[in-house]
Amino acid sequence: MCQRDASNVQFRRKELPHAAAATHPSNGMILTQCAVCATDLGLSLGKKCGRCSTRYCGPECQKQHWEQGGHDKLCKLIKKAGGAEQYNANKKYAEAVAVAAEKCAADTKGQTCYICTQALHWKTKEGLVRMCACRGTAGFAHVSCLAEQAKILLEEAEENNLGQEAMQSRWERWHTCSLCEQHYHGVVFCALGWACWKTYVGRPEADTARMSAMRLLGNGLGEAKLHEAALSVQETELAMKRRIGVPESEMLLVQTCLANSHARLGRDEQASNMLRNVYYGRVRLNGEQHQQTILAALNYANALLNFKRFEEGKSLLIKMIPVARRVLGISNEITLTMRWNYARALYEDEGATLVDLREAVATMEETERTARRVLGDAHPLTVDIERALQNVRAALAVRDGAAPA
Ligand SMILES: [Zn+2]
Ligand SMILES: [Zn+2]
Ligand SMILES: [Zn+2]
Ligand SMILES: [Zn+2]
Repeated sequence: MCQRDASNVQFRRKELPHAAAATHPSNGMILTQCAVCATDLGLSLGKKCGRCSTRYCGPECQKQHWEQGGHDKLCKLIKKAGGAEQYNANKKYAEAVAVAAEKCAADTKGQTCYICTQALHWKTKEGLVRMCACRGTAGFAHVSCLAEQAKILLEEAEENNLGQEAMQSRWERWHTCSLCEQHYHGVVFCALGWACWKTYVGRPEADTARMSAMRLLGNGLGEAKLHEAALSVQETELAMKRRIGVPESEMLLVQTCLANSHARLGRDEQASNMLRNVYYGRVRLNGEQHQQTILAALNYANALLNFKRFEEGKSLLIKMIPVARRVLGISNEITLTMRWNYARALYEDEGATLVDLREAVATMEETERTARRVLGDAHPLTVDIERALQNVRAALAVRDGAAPA
């Protein structure tokens, strides 16, 4: 089977009309190139297979694909899978699971899945993963088992009309470990993002689960550091939601994700402008004492620091950290991340004094201890603080040595 076929399966334009145009085929979920020659088709150029919606630049490529590219055999399969879009999601899912299992291989060796009790998945033969705060022999699972569990829980809630709150708490199974109650991270989050997207992609565009799945996929791609891919998913999401007309709060969420992707790609100015708007939007919409406002403040402050606007970032954090402690608690991931950013603001500023550096170290030591206890040793926050702590301690030692006490 031709490799090219699968990786270039297109989304149908009808369903995703505002998708970003320039997306590399290996990057994301919205693919806009000819399945044969990889000519960029944007959103509307070219030709589609009438059966499966695979896209081509024109009749020559389509003919060649059918006669020599194996599309004569694959077309039926794609159609059977639910069309090009669904087929692409399934394919990307399988790839993401393989990446996740591979990445976790050393950690999961000799373990079994806590859901199906096997080492290898009975059907997919995939290996185990674990990227949460679970320790010892707890928390090893197959992505497929985690996904199946989440899917069934959601179906049950939908069928029995269990209401918004039950839906929301069950939805968490797509991104949060039920054992340690912490977010999955890295490539495991990404694999679950694809699992979720492939589960709900066939639903109508305005379906809540489908929209949430698109968000999760964007976040998952970001977690796996595929930021361009994340951005293209998020731009599609934003355009789609703008067209459908969703509540303001929803728009602010998408803009946040989008801005964070810009920030990760080094587009600090774009990111900080968007995040500033989101923060003030949240203050207006939710008030200051709201989790979403606190999170918006954290994101905006983080962008300011990346942009080396330390004073503004610091003063926003000084204002919002006490609010986070009160509303979310001192061990909450958001509170911890805010304190970590405050420490960053202290030591990354070139004008940092000895007093600033000492305060930075004290803040980081305390935050790191809590992060390690609550989020686990392998959590990105724990790892980041630990690394920074070594640097600041070294800088402090130099300055302490240079300056007489
Ligand atoms: Zn072509
Ligand atoms: Zn076809
Ligand atoms: Zn399993
Ligand atoms: Zn866990």
